[in-house]
Amino acid sequence: MNLRDTIRSIPDHPKPGIIFRDITTLLGDPRAFRRSVDELVQPYAGLKIDKVAGIEARGFILGGAVAHQLSAGFVPIRKKGKLPAETASITYALEYGVDEIEIHRDAITPGEKVLVVDDLIATGGTAAAAVELLQRLGADVVGTCFVIDLPELGGADKLRAMKVPVRSLVAFEGH
Ligand code: AMP
Repeated sequence: MNLRDTIRSIPDHPKPGIIFRDITTLLGDPRAFRRSVDELVQPYAGLKIDKVAGIEARGFILGGAVAHQLSAGFVPIRKKGKLPAETASITYALEYGVDEIEIHRDAITPGEKVLVVDDLIATGGTAAAAVELLQRLGADVVGTCFVIDLPELGGADKLRAMKVPVRSLVAFEGH
């Protein structure tokens, strides 16, 4: 079974020129879902990870499974205005405009080892903002992991420049 073949590609979604890499087909395939989680977890098995931080929304599905497997806690990083208790937030640049993500201030105890999980890294803007937010709360971000990398968009390089390890399972050319 090839993980790549379980990911559906939708040309010109959500706008012309973008190929949307849809993981719902991977998630719906029992062996592919299990294999993805096993491979994301593998470098960290046996290490003490305190928390897995998942990025809304597909990072919740994968991150929840990874956290369970590592016996770690799960921390949601959400779009602005969704979390009910006191939050810390960060804005980051998009191609057009800005976006904002938030975390509960008490979700991290300083010094905790945290692994960041999302489905896909493109420009790395979202993941880099998540790492910075976690570090502001005192987290030791030990790694970031993704099912899909779009290397031409430079996101993985951006995280490595922040001295954060990056791992992905499948790479696709282009945008
Ligand atoms: P970025 O901040 O540019 O790394 O974008 C990453 C976020 O946008 C992730 O949460 C992805 O789910 C989503 N994303 C960006 N590009 C794509 C794409 N081509 N297909 C599917 N999701 C994407």
